[in-house]
Formats: sequence, C-alpha cells, structure tokens
Amino acid sequence: MFYHQYYPIDVVNGPGTRCTLFVSGCEHQCRGCYNQSTWRTDSGHPFTQEMADRIIADLNDTKIKRRGITFSGGDPLHPANQADVLALVKRIRAECPGKDIWMWTGYLLAELTPDQQEITALIDVLVDGKFVQELADPSLVWRGSSNQVIHYLRQPAE
Ligand code: SF4
Repeated sequence: MFYHQYYPIDVVNGPGTRCTLFVSGCEHQCRGCYNQSTWRTDSGHPFTQEMADRIIADLNDTKIKRRGITFSGGDPLHPANQADVLALVKRIRAECPGKDIWMWTGYLLAELTPDQQEITALIDVLVDGKFVQELADPSLVWRGSSNQVIHYLRQPAE
C-alpha cells in the first residue's frame, strides 16, 4: 500500500483529536474530487512497518490523547489497500483499546465485497458513497455531498 499523508494530530477529519491516514488509490473518479493526486495506487509513499508502528504509538500516546484514527484517501477499501488496511485495523483493535476507527470510502456499504466487509466489521464508523458535485453542501458534517451516509457500525450516532 501507498499513502499520501499522515497527520499524527488532526481535529478536522472526524470527532475529537485523532490521527488521520490518507491512503493512495481510488477508482471512483468523482467529478470535482478534491484529491485527484491520490487516485494512482502507487502515488505518495510506501506504507512501511515503521509507519504502522508509529501510528500505534501515536494512538497510545498519553501526552496528547487521541480519540481514534481516521482512514481517508484515496480509498482505504480499494483492492490494492485491503490487505494492509485490514492488518492495521486488526493491530489497532488489539493494541489500542478504546480508540475509535472512522473510514471514508467511495464504495457503498450495501455493495461491499467480502474482503471489504472483513475490514468494516472491525471499524466504528463508515462514511460511504462517491462525492457528487451536484449534491455538494458545505454545511454537511463529515460529508461532502448529501448522498453520502454516515453509518455508525459499532457506536451510537454523535
Ligand atoms: S472517492 Fe474520494 S478520492 Fe475517490 S474520486 Fe471520489 S472524492 Fe476523489
């Protein structure tokens, strides 16, 4: 897997203070995409074991407490990312108790493949659907366009 950016401290992409990982690779080609540079699966930087270890350490940092982590992109559920995202999500569940996991995807929850469902079974919140420029609304919270849905998979709605 490749990633574009990692924010060890982020207060914009999900509730509370979080870590955010923007992975590379997206096949949705939404018109008006704000992040076209992430479409190629090999753009950005290789996601290494060191980066995974750093994320785990940041989530367990007691000086700056993170509520959890956000996966965005690109698309964390792109086939090229599934193995590494699943491995990282499993590590977070095992090594970072109490941290929540939010994920943005252009795929629809109802249409996920078994491999994608293996990942979403372990996360708290999935915001799904492509960005639709005609439905864009800056007043929406956590969503770019009104077709997108916030699915609270393991926790009550905020
Ligand atoms: S899903 Fe997101 S990253 Fe992918 S094309 Fe659409 S807006 Fe861009």
